[in-house]
Parts: sequence; structure tokens; C-alpha cells
Amino acid sequence: MRSIAKKIIPVLDLKKQIAPIRDELDSAIKKVIDNTDFILGSEVCELEKDVQKYCSVKHAVGVSNGTDAIKLALVALGVGEGEGVICPAFTYYATAGAIAGMGAVPVFVDIDPLTYNISIQSIKEVLKKKRNFKIKAIIPVHLYGQCADMEKILELAKKYNLKVIEDTAQAFGAEYKNKKAGTIGDCGTVSFFPGKNIGAFGDAGMVLTNTSDVYHKLMILRNQGNEERYYHTMLGYNHRLDTLQAAILRVKLKHLDCWNKKRQENAAYFNEKLKGLGIRTPYLAEYSTHIYHQYVLNLERSGSNVKLMEYLKEKGVDARVYYPVPLHLQKCFKYLGYKKGDFPESERASVQTLAIPVYPDLTKKELDYIVSSLRAVVVSLRVG
Ligand SMILES: *Cc1c(COP(=O)(O)O)cnc(C)c1O
Repeated sequence: MRSIAKKIIPVLDLKKQIAPIRDELDSAIKKVIDNTDFILGSEVCELEKDVQKYCSVKHAVGVSNGTDAIKLALVALGVGEGEGVICPAFTYYATAGAIAGMGAVPVFVDIDPLTYNISIQSIKEVLKKKRNFKIKAIIPVHLYGQCADMEKILELAKKYNLKVIEDTAQAFGAEYKNKKAGTIGDCGTVSFFPGKNIGAFGDAGMVLTNTSDVYHKLMILRNQGNEERYYHTMLGYNHRLDTLQAAILRVKLKHLDCWNKKRQENAAYFNEKLKGLGIRTPYLAEYSTHIYHQYVLNLERSGSNVKLMEYLKEKGVDARVYYPVPLHLQKCFKYLGYKKGDFPESERASVQTLAIPVYPDLTKKELDYIVSSLRAVVVSLRVG
């Protein structure tokens, strides 16, 4: 064990992921260089077709990143300046950043304490409140790789006439009742940031939709509002997916299910080995699969997550807190007028949860090392 103890087990090791598929990747990259179709080249269209097939969705539009994917979906679905968009207070910044970036108003709601996904009860409460702007859409986030409770969300969306954008940045490949995440709402937005379960060699993203007029708008919006070259029918953006990234992602997509399966096996191993330690392992909702973008423990004691993280770092295990400050308490969203105590479950999650490495290439030895480190430090945390 000594040799591993000195070595950091990182939160993700892309070198290990890339090595076995390096030849495939090199030749895909070479092909793009030979073709020189760097902007919206054939590989972009081919990746979109591959994703349509993989997700059983009518349309897929390659875009620059997961944040721009959300921005484009908001515009394509007709969300305008000053209009409200509901999203969880506990998610990565980009969900709310994209809303605010388009001039819309993030309307935060709390999370469910078990799944860490958007709370249906909290959505209901927020929708009943009177306010001086209209709420037009809702963005559930499939956090850590498990789907939000989409049926209940769609019911509320129908009742209140809201568009639904699934933030699928962390859950590409997960399934809600046999449907792929991101194909259930009006749009699904995907991030291929290098650290996601399937990542490009830079920024990349995608928008999924089953509605053809939304698809046509997305195609125009991502490419400078061009309906036909030099004829700009909408105020568009330069939010295109690079051909090079698309070629890399086509190679990786073939391996995604296998990688996600490995993550599930690692998670199952942790679930078994961490029993009886008094820490809460991830909750599995009956309506969704979980692809463990993150494997998140809950210490159920305030501030214990940072302490445990520091102990684990000393042992050489790179654990992380996702996310230490909920969005309603971030400085940049101060203008929205929220205060501490507004979303108790989001606030609790931020001081109680900790992600440990779960990536597919972890060896049995490394898994066991993580488990034994956790056991040792949890005991010393109790004593201390
Ligand atoms: C990563 C992420 C995004 C943003 O994706 P980028 O490709 O980095 O722009 C959005 N939402 C969530 C929940 C994410 O995890």
C-alpha cells in the first residue's frame, strides 16, 4: 500500500482513458486535418447523427459548450429578457449563469435532500408566489448523473405553460424510465467539457430536441443567424461545435456505455464496502439510472465535508466538494435578493457532501485504498 499512499488518486485520470484508444483518436484527428473542413465540417453532422441514434432523439445540434447549449435553448424556446426561469439553487454555476447571461431572471428553488435534484414541492411553492415578471421555463439539472423526476416536472410545466430544458451536462447516457436523459423535455443540453463522462479535448456541447421548429431555430442561432450564407434572419451567435472536437467525440461515444458501466460497478463496490460507516452513500431513485458523474457521500454533519476532504488529501485521495456555495448565496447573484436560509437543503448539501474518485479506470487496488482511507479518517473524525 505504501507506494500508492504517496501517489495522488486524482478525481479523474484522462491519460488512462485516452491511452487504450489513442490510435483511433490520432487517426480521427488526422482525418480532420487532411480534410481541412474545420468549421461545421462533415464530422459535426456525423456526430449529430450518432447522438440522435444513441439517444433516440429526432434532432441534435452540436454547439460550442454546455453553457452556450443552455443559452441557445432558452432563445430557441422563446424565453425573453426579464422573464423568469426556474432552476435549482444547488447546481454548477453555468445553469443559472446561462439564464442570467441571456437577460432572463434565475428563479431558484430548493433540492430534494436524497437525490440532490430539483425539489418538486419547492417548484410548486415558487409557482404560487406573485411576482412582477412572468415565469417562462424551468431547467431541471440531472445532477451527478441521475435524472430529476421528469414526469412530475412535465406535469407542472403543462399546468403553468412552461418550457422545459433538461441540463444534461452531467448525465449524458443516463436513462429516465428507459428514455435517455435530455430527450424528455422541450430541449436537453449536453456538455462535452473534458471532465464530463464523455469529454472533448476542449470545449464542446450539444442541444437535443424532438421539435422540428426548435431544431431549425437552433441551427440558425448557433451559426450567426444565417439561414442561408449572408442572409441573417435572426440575431444569432457564433456558438458552433468544432469539427475537430466532433471527430474526437465520435470515437469516444462508442466507449461511453462501457465507461458508464465501469463507474456503476465502482459505485456498487463503494456502496458495499462503506456500509456501517455512518456516511450516506448515493440514493437511487426508482425512475432513473445513475451514471455517477460524481459519487457523492453525505456526512450529515455541517462542515464535515471540508474536514474529510482535507484528511483524504493527506492520504493522497483527491476528493472534492461539489459545490461549496449554493447559487443563491453567490456574490454574483446578490442582485436577485436571496438570503441565507432561503433554501435549507441546498445549504445543507453544500456543507455535508463530498465526491470521491469514481472514474472508470480506477483499479481494484485504488478502490480498496480509497475505502481504507475513508474508513480510517471517518473513525478519526468521530474521535476528533
Ligand atoms: C459542466 C456543466 C455545465 C456547463 O458546461 P460547459 O460545457 O462547461 O459550458 C452546465 N451545467 C452543469 C450542471 C454542468 O455540470
